[in-house]
Amino acid sequence: MDGSRLAAGGVADFAAGLVNPSLRLGVTGLSRAGKTVFITALVNALLNGGRFPAFEALSGGRITRAYLEPQPDDDLPRFAYEQHARALTGDDRHWPESTSRISQLRIAVEYTPSGLISRSFGRGKLHIDIVDYPGEWLLDLPLLRMSYPEWSAATIAASRAAPRLAHAAEFHEVLAGLDPGGSADELAAIRAAEVFTAYLARCRRDDVSLSSLPPGRFLMPGDYKGSPLLAFAPLDIAPGTELHKGSLGGLMERRYRSYVSGIVKPFFYGHFARLDRQIVLVDALTALNAGAAAVKDLEQALTGILACFRQGPNALLSTLFGRRIDRVLFAATKADLLHHSSHDRLENILKLIVGEAMTRAEFQGADVDAAALAAVRATREATVRQNGETLECILGTPLAGEAIGATQFDGATEAAIFPGDLPKDPRKALDGSLEGSLKFVRFRPPLRKDGGWPHIRLDRTMQFLLGDRFR
Ligand code: GDP
Repeated sequence: MDGSRLAAGGVADFAAGLVNPSLRLGVTGLSRAGKTVFITALVNALLNGGRFPAFEALSGGRITRAYLEPQPDDDLPRFAYEQHARALTGDDRHWPESTSRISQLRIAVEYTPSGLISRSFGRGKLHIDIVDYPGEWLLDLPLLRMSYPEWSAATIAASRAAPRLAHAAEFHEVLAGLDPGGSADELAAIRAAEVFTAYLARCRRDDVSLSSLPPGRFLMPGDYKGSPLLAFAPLDIAPGTELHKGSLGGLMERRYRSYVSGIVKPFFYGHFARLDRQIVLVDALTALNAGAAAVKDLEQALTGILACFRQGPNALLSTLFGRRIDRVLFAATKADLLHHSSHDRLENILKLIVGEAMTRAEFQGADVDAAALAAVRATREATVRQNGETLECILGTPLAGEAIGATQFDGATEAAIFPGDLPKDPRKALDGSLEGSLKFVRFRPPLRKDGGWPHIRLDRTMQFLLGDRFR
């Protein structure tokens, strides 16, 4: 059933692709990783150009026209590009509203092919369908293969170990009062779900920064906010426990199953499995600053994400009409929070984390790479001499209310900040030794004097994700 649904989508995509070549680009990442800003900057680059030396089709002048078109899928909301671009460029410039659900945007790009033979066939045209979705949803993949008692046991065991234990006191207190064999009390189920969700949110906070916290819709409900499909929580039971109808455990189990079959499966088969390329945005700097546990958790989350892209006979994305993800890029965002001397280092740290995740996920198939970027660069650089020492600083306008130590920023004054350095040896970053050593503030988006938006390495990213399709 699931396979045939997927095949039906694949046939439709395949048939459409013969007439109009298209590329479905998935953009994902955990909440606040930078998806909205990335897509807005990418679309702006294609529509309006700018300085993108490493994106050959654009820098070589071969992109002749680009425009937005009605999107192909009527069941997906449209990515609000115009609204987000206005937020970034208006008088009161501010960061756009973040991703909270899936959305889509289609951009048509006309270009002059580079090859002699293809050029003689005239102009080329490529439809790029960008699909933006919360990375939290990808981390639900393992649930497809887990029963409710298995998931409960694993989730509770994790909550009883560091670093999650420190954030689980209230959840454990409520859990201790729940009897899986007792009667199915709706209010008890709702209360348990609320306390469990609050525990997950605590694990996600900036200073804790854990990544791997399924079920994904609990932190990113999308259109399911308040739905009974999310009114369940794990119970303190062993993996093989049988739960009876009419009991609290039975109710939780039924809801868990509805969640998996009604939300997780349709997302994977209806949207995820139809992507051609994927970029996974990662807020690696926050994880590095939060310490070893957060870095380990990030690695675990990336392993889970890579498992979604694994190819092979038993993999989720098996061969279907040539539609399979052939390139995956992991990108550490907000590189403009560091001096350029640390950009390569950030890239190398992410490469190391991804490399280990690939080994653990026994990954093979798509081309995988890692990069560091700032889709919209909010800072410049400056060298500051202080007490005889030379510090490589970044310069920008911190948002009102941001602070470093006793210094409070007002949202209007520029400041030079020494954010700290990343180590030359990427392995040194993974042991937690950077904990608390980096100084970040949120800067206002840059004030632009010309049309192009400043960025760091967005052109390289575009070349990896799109470059070969403009040949
Ligand atoms: P999403 O939840 O993944 O959609 O994340 P957003 O794209 O909304 O980004 C979350 C926040 O990260 C923004 O509000 C900005 O404060 C910050 N951010 C995102 N991209 C950049 C960037 O390129 N540079 C800087 N300095 N901050 C960024």
